[in-house]
Amino acid sequence: MARCPECAGKMTFNSMIKQMVCNSCGLSLSRHDLDMYWNKIRNENSDNSDELQRKKNRRKEWLDWYSSSKNDKDYY
Ligand SMILES: [Zn+2]
Repeated sequence: MARCPECAGKMTFNSMIKQMVCNSCGLSLSRHDLDMYWNKIRNENSDNSDELQRKKNRRKEWLDWYSSSKNDKDYY
């Protein structure tokens, strides 16, 4: 089942206009355009999650450094 890239609603194929039509927001796309749309969204999402992951890693490194330096201080 196809999902609307705009609102995640259910899309059904309308044979009259030969396009996928969203039941929720009425967006109509050809199957090809729908594929393109989703590929674009997937790429954007993966870019964002990579960036998020990098930020998390940076934060984790900083926390590791912070907690280890704190431990060092506790020694003295
Ligand atoms: Zn929609």
